[in-house]
Amino acid sequence: MKPEVKTKRLVVLGGGESGVGTAILGKKEGFEVFVSDKGNIGKEYKEVLINFGIEWEEGTHTESKILNANVVMKSPGIPENVKIIKQLNEKGTLIVSEIEFASKYTQANIVGITGSNGKTTTTMLTHHVLKNGELDVCMAGNIGDSFAKIIAENDYKNYVLELSSFQLDGVFKFAPHIAIITNITPDHLDRYNYDFELYIASKFRITKNQTKNDYLIYDADDEVIVNYIKKHSIQARLLPFSLHKKFENGAYLEDNNIKITVDNNEFTMSTSDLALKGNHNIKNAMAASTVAQLLRIRKTTIRESLENFHGVEHRLEDVLKINNVQYINDSKATNVNATFYALDAMKASTVWIVGGVDKGNDYSDLFALVNEKVRAIICLGLDNSKIIDAFGNCVDTIIETASMSEAVKAAYEVSERNDNVLLSPACASFDLFKSYEDRGMQFKQAVREL
Ligand code: ADP
Repeated sequence: MKPEVKTKRLVVLGGGESGVGTAILGKKEGFEVFVSDKGNIGKEYKEVLINFGIEWEEGTHTESKILNANVVMKSPGIPENVKIIKQLNEKGTLIVSEIEFASKYTQANIVGITGSNGKTTTTMLTHHVLKNGELDVCMAGNIGDSFAKIIAENDYKNYVLELSSFQLDGVFKFAPHIAIITNITPDHLDRYNYDFELYIASKFRITKNQTKNDYLIYDADDEVIVNYIKKHSIQARLLPFSLHKKFENGAYLEDNNIKITVDNNEFTMSTSDLALKGNHNIKNAMAASTVAQLLRIRKTTIRESLENFHGVEHRLEDVLKINNVQYINDSKATNVNATFYALDAMKASTVWIVGGVDKGNDYSDLFALVNEKVRAIICLGLDNSKIIDAFGNCVDTIIETASMSEAVKAAYEVSERNDNVLLSPACASFDLFKSYEDRGMQFKQAVREL
């Protein structure tokens, strides 16, 4: 007699992109699936769940339908300390992230990209190079459709995944063949008991299951990363990149050329040919082209791809030139490190629009750059006191504003020919805007209306 195979129950907490994607994949793989969201589920997602015949609830977590799960997928937005997660932990239920759940159902080659800043840019750049190299490749993770949904519906040979620390918190067996850690600076600490070490450990989960046949590409100028690697044993082959140091295997700068060597195979390209400007983008380009070299993309294709990649919206995005003043949208800079690299990339005197919800910023890293490059500061936030205190001695002109159109008009008034006007807020957007995208769109609109 055949043993009775019991259907396994998958409970998905959170009915957003990753939740609904996981539910679809779970259903396809034969799980009994239940989706529960304490808030509201978007209309389009409800329609998908109904179409797939997946049971769901919103506005509550019904314990009797959740605590009987064999496996739970927790969406990245749900913190560890909510009641239902604590209850599941007490029962010892396996709680995974979408990435962990989905990666079980593919044998594809995975490039996983994490870091505090530069994930999206590096993911898109890497995808662009691999696609131009005619690999069968798809981009997922924090970008676009969820990884789980793509796995349910497609069969790509390669994936480039943008991975947040929240997604990595829920991985146990996930092992990308190539991992990138772009950098680690304090961010999202509210989710890590204000303990930077926990956040660092979360980022390094990307390499936890890698073997000696896999690769870890990382920023060797980042002391946090270098110190962690020194103290922990990492199985993957290390491929560092740096603007200041040289390596036998890895990527470095020599006379304004990027040089990448992997097993005596060398790639060279002038930094002046890179489409994306700024030192941070040299690093992103180094990381992406190291991946491309590992995956044997032709060198001319890598070069051409880095020359013609047109950038990502809201990341140092050139908007318009008006009266010879360049307006630049870097709304995605929601922390000090991102703004550091934006100011660092400015080649002309700059009127800097900054402010929003401060996540415990320490502005001292910016003092030298602000002294050197910033003509005037336009504060754009409900509470600007910290910015005024920090930079009062660095610049003569600080203007407070409370809407984007007011900020852009003030920037227009104080700017001079050949200046830049840079929106790089170093803060979250939620005091005056719906999101960083909304803030960037409003900036572009206000510039167009000048
Ligand atoms: P993420 O997806 O990690 O938030 P993005 O590519 O969206 O990263 O970029 C976020 C912000 O950080 C933008 O302001 C961008 O200009 C800046 N940035 C991009 N790459 C880097 C990097 N390697 N180091 C520091 N800042 C970066």
